[in-house]
Amino acid sequence: MIKEIMVLTAHRMKTKRIYVGDVPIGGGAPVVVQSMTNTPTTDVKRTLEQIRALRDAGCEIVRVAVPGLDSIEPFSEIVSKSDIPVIADIHFDPQIALHAIRAGAKGIRINPGNISGRSSLKKILREAKNFSIPIRIGINSGSLPKEILKRYGHPTPEALVDAAIHYIRIFEDMDFSEIKLSLKSSSVLDTIKAYEMISERTDYPLHLGITEAGPIVQGTVKSSIGIGILLLKGIGDTIRESLTADPVQEVKVAYEILRAVGLRQYGPEIISCPVCGRCEIDIMGLVNQVCEGINGIKAPIKVAIMGCVVNGPGEAREADVGVAGGRGKGILFKKGEVIRKIPEGDLARVLINEVKEMEKSYQREVQRR
Ligand code: SF4
Repeated sequence: MIKEIMVLTAHRMKTKRIYVGDVPIGGGAPVVVQSMTNTPTTDVKRTLEQIRALRDAGCEIVRVAVPGLDSIEPFSEIVSKSDIPVIADIHFDPQIALHAIRAGAKGIRINPGNISGRSSLKKILREAKNFSIPIRIGINSGSLPKEILKRYGHPTPEALVDAAIHYIRIFEDMDFSEIKLSLKSSSVLDTIKAYEMISERTDYPLHLGITEAGPIVQGTVKSSIGIGILLLKGIGDTIRESLTADPVQEVKVAYEILRAVGLRQYGPEIISCPVCGRCEIDIMGLVNQVCEGINGIKAPIKVAIMGCVVNGPGEAREADVGVAGGRGKGILFKKGEVIRKIPEGDLARVLINEVKEMEKSYQREVQRR
């Protein structure tokens, strides 16, 4: 099994390269992290604030719903003031899609099944081509075309793939190939199967996600398994972790998935023990304080916070910075070396300062490159 995973991660599926604004997707580019705002689009101020918070958490592309023509003007302002590319999420009304493209969307996401009429679709594709932006064909188990649903009876993986192929053909017949695909189901197993099947049949870049994954614990588990397994198989060019929660949490979880499968390192990684009866300091409180204190740090720093000498020194020595707890104190480790003993009350402050110093050197290194 380990051997299989290593082989699979070493051979990422080669997809076609597209660009959303200046962000490359597919064709060997790093897997891109996306999210979606949940503020009313007509509330420009709040939506831009949320986009900034998402950007600060590492979000690289953001999707914004454009539910009606009254959202076009605010959408245009949002696009012009956002410093990450904005994708317009469109359903039903082709006019909205046309206006969103003209308003400066860096991409649009449509479910062609709910855009009525071939001629409307043709107009959207023509306009997207004029503005040189890609379109995500978003197939969703909850809104498959009627004829496909009738053929399969249920939104099976085969039905999702059939719908995707059907629309790809239509797009290609209209000479449009700046395509990104998603085939989302709320079933993890169906999603995995659908993406496996579609990746055998097309080289368009794939946007991964488990749709309607649920609240934070359930959604994180479902997405981590679904997206994680696909990424380990070399499938997927961009991801969205869908949560019924603050979208900033989506971005944080997305990066943890990418870190766990060895594809990207972003922000600190906390190695902390679950605590047991041997522990003589407040590890949970310490972890919470440190997490809060280093929020927003971008450097991939490994921070170990361990309760006692059983596994503490081993983990702390392997981390960039770490502590192994003792009675009312902790031993500070840095880059494998013991630095000094620190009273429990000072541990959070010392760890946070160490991480912030490492962030400064990391940022200097990034600037130099
Ligand atoms: Fe328990 Fe120590 Fe392991 Fe933490 S590191 S779980 S305190 S044995």
